[in-house]
Amino acid sequence: MSAVNKVLIVGGGIGGLCAAIALRRKGIEVDLIELKSEWTVYGVGIIQQSNVVREMAKLGVLDGYLDAAYAFEDVAIYGPAGQQLARIPGQRLAGPAYPANVGISRLALHKVLSETALELGAKVRLGLSVESLNDTGESVEVLFTDGTGAGYDLVVGADGLFSKVRSLLFGDTYTPRFTGQSVWRYNFPRDPHIDHLANYQSAEGNAGLVPLAGDLMYLFLTSHEPSNPWMDPKTLAEQMRQRLQGFTGLIGELREQITDNSQVVYKPMEVVFVNEPWYRGRVLLIGDAAHATTPHLGQGAGMAIEDAIVLSEELTRDGGIEQQLQRFMDRRFERCKYISESSVLAGDKEMQHDREFDRIGLVKQMLARTAEPI
Ligand SMILES: Cc1cc2nc3c(=O)[nH]c(=O)nc-3n(C[C@H](O)[C@H](O)[C@H](O)COP(=O)(O)OP(=O)(O)OC[C@H]3O[C@@H](n4cnc5c(N)ncnc54)[C@H](O)[C@@H]3O)c2cc1C
Repeated sequence: MSAVNKVLIVGGGIGGLCAAIALRRKGIEVDLIELKSEWTVYGVGIIQQSNVVREMAKLGVLDGYLDAAYAFEDVAIYGPAGQQLARIPGQRLAGPAYPANVGISRLALHKVLSETALELGAKVRLGLSVESLNDTGESVEVLFTDGTGAGYDLVVGADGLFSKVRSLLFGDTYTPRFTGQSVWRYNFPRDPHIDHLANYQSAEGNAGLVPLAGDLMYLFLTSHEPSNPWMDPKTLAEQMRQRLQGFTGLIGELREQITDNSQVVYKPMEVVFVNEPWYRGRVLLIGDAAHATTPHLGQGAGMAIEDAIVLSEELTRDGGIEQQLQRFMDRRFERCKYISESSVLAGDKEMQHDREFDRIGLVKQMLARTAEPI
């Protein structure tokens, strides 16, 4: 008999939804609460690499997910004028019939995951958070922000970078840190050449084009913003164009089409890593709540999804909850730490304009590490 039969998941983002799906597939009762009363996500896309495609197969959502995504094979790295520096072939980890990588809009991903979680019987409540957690050793007594309460065998904090569950467990020991860089994103109709992930490196920052659907792609750009300035929403398009001045070729052409301030998605990069076990008693953190990193390696959501699957596997193996959560940590800690640190390192090297840094080698190493079984 499993020690854990009833779980509360706090946070209905990628990690929380994947945990809900994975736990329901193992027959565990799941309540999920989400702070937002309208369960929406912002409308740009996300890169999901071969390890994520493999995990989506394990979650049993691969067909719906691929229908909503743009499948591609290779990752290419170009200079600022578009000259190819490297082309890294995709690895078909989900099996030969499935693609190596995908790009998917966050909205489409949310739809696939939320519909699956609900179909599998996860009970979702919106506009709700946790007020307090009282771990009695036998269960966690949860007081919700609407004044109601319930008891659970395990509480999973999947509430992202500014996790409330993390602050309930660790106080202010772990608070997000601004790395010095920001990310700019903008959607375009897909250019026919962008049938792969295209990274462009310049001395000022890195840009990339990610296919999301037959008719959609997005452009991303990283920039050095040491003072983390407030950006006037009325100037976002102009500011994004300015930061793309070092690029010619396709990126240079697209730059001139960035004119709609409301379509620019600007985000300072903030990171946090819980450098000790991500649980205390019967409360556990997963995803960005435990290990939010920069987007340089395109693996943040990938790590959250892997956390969800490993958790469902360990909770249905033998032993008490302490052993189960310790085994979860044994499988997750070093892998997530490697991704977190490598991703931050890639950003630091961009800010230092370090031309000696072997970015292509780092990407290849990351792909080899993430191809290893979880
Ligand atoms: C610019 C950028 C680009 C990125 N690109 C990629 C990429 O290409 N590929 C990739 O794999 N990763 C990428 N990432 C990382 C990825 O977005 C995150 O790692 C991923 O979203 C983490 O999922 P999560 O569920 O842990 O957290 P989140 O997605 O942040 O979800 C947390 C959820 O919890 C809810 N919540 C928050 N507080 C509470 C509370 N107190 N109570 C209840 N609910 C709460 C939130 O509303 C949200 O729905 C990128 C990140 C950034 C910033």
